[in-house]
Parts: sequence; C-alpha cells; structure tokens
Amino acid sequence: MKEERAAAPDERSLKELSCLGANELYQRLDTGLDGLTSNQVKERKAKYGSNTIEPKKKESQWLKFLKNFTSLMAILLWFGGAIAFFFTDTPQLGIAIWLVNVINGLFSYFQESRASKATEALKKMLPSYARVIREGKEEQILAEELVPGDVLLIEEGDRISADARVIQATDLQVNQSALTGESNPIRKNDEVQSGKGMGNFELKNMIFAGTTVSNGSARAVVSQIGMQTEFGKIADLTQSLGEEKSPLQMELDKLTKQISVIAILIGVVFFFAAIFFVHQPVAQGFIFALGMIVAFIPEGLLPTVTLSLAMAVQRMAKEHALVKKLSSVETLGATSVICSDKTGTLTQNEMTVCYAWTASKEYQVGGLGYAPQGTITVNGQQTTGDQDPELAWLLRAASLCSNARVLPPDDENPRYRVLGDPTEACLNVVAQKAGLDLAAMVKENPRLRELPFDSSRKRMTTIHNLTMPLAEATRVSFTKGAPKEMAALCTKICVAGTIRAITSEDQAKIMQANDHYAEQGLRVLAVAYRDLGQVANLPKGFSQYTPELIEQDMIFMGLMVMADPPREEVAAAVQKCHDAHIRIIMVTGDYGLTAVSIAKRIGIVQGANPRVITGLELANISDEELKTALGDEVVFARVAPEQKYRVVSLLQDLGNVVAVTGDGVNDAPALKKADIGVAMGITGTDVAKESADMILTDDNFASIVRAVEEGRAVYKNIQKFLLYIFNSNMSEAVPSAAFLLSRAAIPLPLTVMQILAIDLGTDMIPALGLGVEEPEEGIMTRPPRTKKDALLTKGIIFKAFFWYGLMGSVVAMGAYFYTMAQRGATIGNLPSVGVTYREATTMTLGAIIFTQIGAVWNCRTERSSVFTVGPFKNKVINVGIVFEMALFCLLSYVPLFQDVFQTAPLGVKEWLFLLLCPVPIVAIEEVRKAYSRRQASKRRQTK
Ligand code: ATP
Repeated sequence: MKEERAAAPDERSLKELSCLGANELYQRLDTGLDGLTSNQVKERKAKYGSNTIEPKKKESQWLKFLKNFTSLMAILLWFGGAIAFFFTDTPQLGIAIWLVNVINGLFSYFQESRASKATEALKKMLPSYARVIREGKEEQILAEELVPGDVLLIEEGDRISADARVIQATDLQVNQSALTGESNPIRKNDEVQSGKGMGNFELKNMIFAGTTVSNGSARAVVSQIGMQTEFGKIADLTQSLGEEKSPLQMELDKLTKQISVIAILIGVVFFFAAIFFVHQPVAQGFIFALGMIVAFIPEGLLPTVTLSLAMAVQRMAKEHALVKKLSSVETLGATSVICSDKTGTLTQNEMTVCYAWTASKEYQVGGLGYAPQGTITVNGQQTTGDQDPELAWLLRAASLCSNARVLPPDDENPRYRVLGDPTEACLNVVAQKAGLDLAAMVKENPRLRELPFDSSRKRMTTIHNLTMPLAEATRVSFTKGAPKEMAALCTKICVAGTIRAITSEDQAKIMQANDHYAEQGLRVLAVAYRDLGQVANLPKGFSQYTPELIEQDMIFMGLMVMADPPREEVAAAVQKCHDAHIRIIMVTGDYGLTAVSIAKRIGIVQGANPRVITGLELANISDEELKTALGDEVVFARVAPEQKYRVVSLLQDLGNVVAVTGDGVNDAPALKKADIGVAMGITGTDVAKESADMILTDDNFASIVRAVEEGRAVYKNIQKFLLYIFNSNMSEAVPSAAFLLSRAAIPLPLTVMQILAIDLGTDMIPALGLGVEEPEEGIMTRPPRTKKDALLTKGIIFKAFFWYGLMGSVVAMGAYFYTMAQRGATIGNLPSVGVTYREATTMTLGAIIFTQIGAVWNCRTERSSVFTVGPFKNKVINVGIVFEMALFCLLSYVPLFQDVFQTAPLGVKEWLFLLLCPVPIVAIEEVRKAYSRRQASKRRQTK
C-alpha cells in the first residue's frame, strides 16, 4: 500500500518563506534556534514521510524476466522447437528444445538479478548524511531522516539534502547545476527577500535539495523534503541517469552480435549442405543448422560478465574500495599511473605535535597519538603553559584557531577519537599536555568569525574577543597555515615575549627551522595573530571580513611541528605498483621537503634528487616542459587542487590511464577528468564523492592497489571464460562437419540435442566458476594492458579453436570411432540408428564433457600450474564438474532422456575411456605452461 503523504501547505511555499524574518520563519515552521524536539521529529516523520526521492519509473520485474526469453538465440530456439514439433516426426525434440530455452532463460535471469542485487547493496553502503541541530545539540543524521522544521548546518563540499531557507550564512556559494544547468556557483545569503517576479531557483535565501555547497557555510531551516522539493518535482528527469553500459559490456554486446552473425552464416551453409549434399529433409536440415548456430553463439556471455563484474565490485567493497560503476572495475585493471595525495592516503592522518618552535626556543613534546598524556620539555626541563607564557599563547592561538574535537575513549570506542581535521585535533591535544583548560579557553575567548581553511590559501583564521589580553590586545585574529606563505604575511615577530619588526634574518631563521623539520618528513604549521583593535577602518559587520583584509600585517608567534607517519601497509603497496609497472606520482598540498621525505620513506621515489614541482612553478611551466618532467621521477608539492586537473590531463595525453585521489570541492574537476577518480570516504566531501568513480572507505592508498589487482583479475577471468566457451565450439562443430563432408558416411556423431545439452547445460556452471577465479600469481608483475588491447585477442581465438578446440575434437571423434570399432563397425558400414550408434554418440558427448573438465582446469591459469594454485580450490568449478557429470549420467541412463538425446548406457571400458579424457588435455597444457614459465623467467634474467 502506498503511504499517504500530507500535501505541502501553501504557507511553506518557497516564495512565502523567503520574505519572512528569522523569527517569523521559526514561527511559521514551528521550530526554533535549538531545532526540533524528538517528539516533533516523530510527528513530522509520520506526517511528511521520509526524505527520499521515489523512483517514478522502474522497469517491471516481469519485463526484465521476459527479456531473457527474447534474445536472438532464444527466438531461434523458439522457432527451431516449433519446426521440430510441427514438421518433423520427433515432436518430443521440439518440446526438449523449448525446455532447454526456458532453463537457459531462467539461468540468465538468475545471474542478472544476482548482479543487480550486488550493485543495489552497494548503493546502501553509500548513505548520505546531514548535520542538524535537534534539542539544542548538533547531530549527524541520515539525510532521509530530515523533516520540515529541522535546522540544517551546511559547509563547503556538502550535498544539500532538502529545500531550506537560509537563516545565517558565511560566504555561502551553491552549485545549482543539477537543477538549473548553471555551472557557476550562485551566492546565497540570509537576507529577507520579496521574491516577486522571480523563479524559485533565483531566490537568494533558499537552498535546494540536490545542489552542493561550493563555498562557505550556513544554517538553514528545512522547508520541503523528498518528492515535495524542487529536485523531487523534476526527479523524473534525473532518474534517466540509470546504469550505463560499461565499455566492456558494449564490446561484449558487439562481439556477441558479430559472432551471432557468423554463427548464422555457418548455420546457413550447414543447412544447404545438409539439404543438397546429404539430401536431408528441409525441417531436419533446419534443426541441424540450428544446432550449429547454438553451438557458436556465446549465449551466457553478457550475464556472466555482468555478474563477474558485480561480484568483483562486492569483493572490492569488502576491501574498502566502493566502485560506483561496473565499468570502473575494468578501467582500474588498466590503470598505469596513480596520482596520490599524501596526507591521510599515504600517511596515517593521526597527527601528533612533536615540537613547538618559537624564535627563542624549541619545545619537545612527548607522547604519541591523541591521548593528552605526555610532557613538554625545553632544553631537557619540563615546562607547562603556566610556567611559560610564550608557549601558552602559541598553544592557545593554535587551538582557538581549530574546529576539531578530541573525544576520550568510552565503552563503544576504546581509543581517542577525532571529530574534524586531525591537523587541528593534535593542536588541542598539545594544549592539554601543557595543562591548558580547553573548554574554559573556548568559553572565555568567544569566536566572532571564521575565515575557513582552503587549500589554495593554505591557512585559516578565527577572530576572537579575548578576556585575558594578549600583549594588551583584546580583539584579535589568529591565523595558522603554511609557514612560508604565513611568514611573508607577517610584519612583526614575537621573540621571548617581546614584539618587534620582523627582519629578513628572522624570515630566514623561520624557513631554516621549517626545512630542518620538513626534511624529517614532519608537517609544519605557522601560527600568527593580529591586534584588530589597532586596525583602522574595519567594516562593521563581521560578515564583511575577508581573508585579504584580515590575513596581513600579522605578528609571527611560532611553528607547530607534527608527525604523521606513513601507513604501515603503504610501502608494500607501493612496491606492488612498481612490480606491476604502475607509476605513482605524489601530488600534495604539503611542503616539498616533507613530501619528498615521505615519498622516499615509502619508496615512491627511488632517486636521490627527484624533481619537485611546486604549485607556483606549475603555474608557469609549459605543457611540453611538464610532459618531459612527467617522464622522470617527480613530486608535486604545495599544489592547489585545481592544478591536479592539468597534471591528470597531460598524463592522459601521454597515453596513460590515470587514477587520481581527492577529497575537496576543488578536486572535483580532476576527479571527473581522471579515468578513475578516487574520493576519500572518511575525509572526503560529498562533492568529491559524487565526482569520483570509486570511494575509499578507509582513505588508504593500499586499497587502491588492491582494487587495481581485482580489476586486472576480473579482466583476465573474462578472457578465461571466453577461452572456455569458445573451445567447445570446435569439438561441437567437427562432428557435424565430418557428417557433412563424408556425405553421411559418418553418421552424425553428436546430435543437435546433445549440442544443446553441452552449450546450455553442462558448460554453464564451470564457465561461471572461471568468472570468480582468484587472481593468478604474477598478475601484478606484468605491465597494465593498454586501452587499445582487445578483450578477445588473436591469442585467445587461436588457443580456443586450434589448441584446446583441436585437442577436444580429436578426443571426441576418437571416442566415437573407438566405440564403433569396439562393436565391429568401421568406416563404410557405420550404423546411423540402433544401440551401437547411440552408444557412439553418447561417447562423443561424454568425451566432450570430460575434455571440458580438463579444459576448465586449463583455463583457470595462464601460466601457473593448476596443481600449484590448487585444482579443487574453486568451489563453483567443483560444483560445475559434479553437475555436468550428474547431468551426463541422467541423459544417458534415464530412458525418457535417452530417446530425446539419442543416448545409451555405457560399459566399464567406455567409462574408463571417458575418465581418462581430461588427462592428456591437462598434461599437454601443463607442459606448455611449464615451457612458458621457463621462457618468462629467462626473459626476466636477461633484462
Ligand atoms: P595532501 O594534499 O597530501 O592531502 P595537505 O593536507 O598538506 O596534503 P592541503 O589540505 O591542501 O594538503 O593543505 C595544504 C597546506 O595547508 C598544508 O600543508 C598545511 O600547511 C596547511 N593546512 C592544512 N590544514 C590546515 C588547517 N586546518 N589549518 C590551517 N592550515 C592548514
């Protein structure tokens, strides 16, 4: 039953709300500064439903189901069955063909729904959240839980989850392109507006679901949710965004069509040959041709490939890599360059301040992690904020200019946790180590305004009223950020409590200290303040304070030096990339020396003096020069996110398949441009996550490498699968060709129903098993495939038809003649009916099934011996083998099937023959694999 929703009352119309003042708005929406109470939330949820967009058009399950019975091959089989039923003297053959068609359709439907269930489950792993104030407290809730009247908090990078009226805004800019197509950010504010003659999207004090925050922050009151939002009203349009087909799926689609055409041509040739050469009745000739067509059409191809991609996506999700589109799995496998940022991806992002530096002293900070235990020493003597005012003010300034919070361990979380940016959290921790009372400090020195951090400026500022004056100043700005840039903005310096003009020697000393720490891989932030009471002509409203206005003429206080060690698993992942011929380029916002030190420590750069290109240089270097630089070891440092786009696009021009990481709003263009955009799940903004193809739920570089490995494995598995299904074509075609070419002197060794039994019966599960084969050893020691490499290579075609296919055909025909010979029938007097004939065809069928058992083992590895990877390790294949043997017994022992499939029970000798069939098939291939391994190792030695 459909949920009855309350219609939007008119008094909530966007234009009505936009002309109300804050208090009237609260009254109208029955809410307040402290947000809703839990009872109000409950009532409104019951009244308005949940904040979700309901799909209007969903393809019906029935339609999906029926599609599996209307493919080209299915139509041919319906038709063939009808001919057999109505025009031959074997109507049971018609029924059998239809039955096989139904079973095959059900199987494809089952595969398809498993694949779509896997991708559906994935969508649920990407919930979107909203920050609200409820009962006076800030809370993070699922976006679908928002109700009208909720007080919503948004900041740069957030996706807006409901329509809302802005009541307080700081430099708010919103990207409304999802609704209006306008890609430039639109400024929004909290001012009352009449809205007369304006379209809803022009209202400056309204924000809309489906849009994103490109800049600033705001507080807004939710007015409409779900289908009542402007986004909900046009959801029909956006829902056409459905699952697009991946290049691989398109290639396979094309391949299936091409092969189907070839199959039909072969069928036509066989049809005419059967009629004119062997003088068979037309209906019989048609059924015969049908067998050939079915033998060649790779029917299970698309559903199996979709399923193996979906399964890979599921496995990747368990390994912390959420892939948003199936197509990304294949692109991942072809990745040749990974551009990775440093902080949090290659490093642990668990910062600990280990030194604090002022122009007069260096303080050493003890203790690792976020626990506030540890002491501060200067020249070996322990000190605290009480004893050392210079230290106290440096630490106060740094932690007042911070938005992060550190939560102590509790029952659920045994470790200290951080809410917000770890770079900021560690500043709070060191303040506590110095004995400062953070809570009191924040209360006594209220923050009036924030100029938020942005990675192009590389600093942030907060403005405070101080109750305890700092050098007589009571209204100050505290700024922290990248040292070089900060030092350039300072005109004075604080040395041992005295403030004087900064000299070039001071600047040099600051940079010397900075470089000394950075060379050890440490991250350095400078801290400064400005006495705003001394600044003339400042605008009245804080909202008019801009970074340009405030962040100048500052007093340098000191440096905060923090350790952010590399993640443990990263060095091994980097080595794996080197082995796999994948380049890693560090593109970081951090300082060059810190970046190089970390890059060396984890093995990204191996030379002694890699080239460091800074954002500044990048702005002045030509494309040609940059391309040359990209040929060597290079580290990009102090790069603004916007500059990543250029690096990515030049790498692509050089023929690379590029994966790039990012987390901020400004990373979005590079994430979209890259072949694989990788967003950080923990620290990433909604905008970055939306622009990316893959989201790392643990922000860890090693997860990218595992995903690449999985991508390579899937591609290889699809090739293995193709090899397997094509190789039986030859052994299915050869018996029919022998029948035609001998003008029926060799009675048909494999009947049409037997061909159907192999293609749509026994081959299915083992083929599926190849789709989930584990990565073969050495898969990460070869270069990535190039974009031009076709899926179905000449090598695979040759191996399928003229290696495995020929071996299988020889064995199958051998089995047929062996059985005939056992019964005294030789060429010239081979029977075409009776028990001997049936036994012989049963043996052809059995031999193909048993050689396919050998073939599936052979296909599992390209070079490694199947005995080293474990012949019974792949459970799906094991089940497939048992299934095909059981099916074979069923077909040859159950009387009902014996008539339809022209089979007969076999004797001990015949069974022995069949059981031995896989032996030469596997043995010959093992010899080839051993030879190939030797050649490969020789090649490696001569390199
Ligand atoms: P990466 O790009 O590898 O993630 P990063 O964190 O250093 O490294 P950004 O986030 O772009 O890159 O930061 C650039 C610089 O800005 C930092 O190196 C640091 O000097 C400064 N910075 C980072 N976070 C803050 C912050 N919260 N407040 C002030 N300055 C900061």
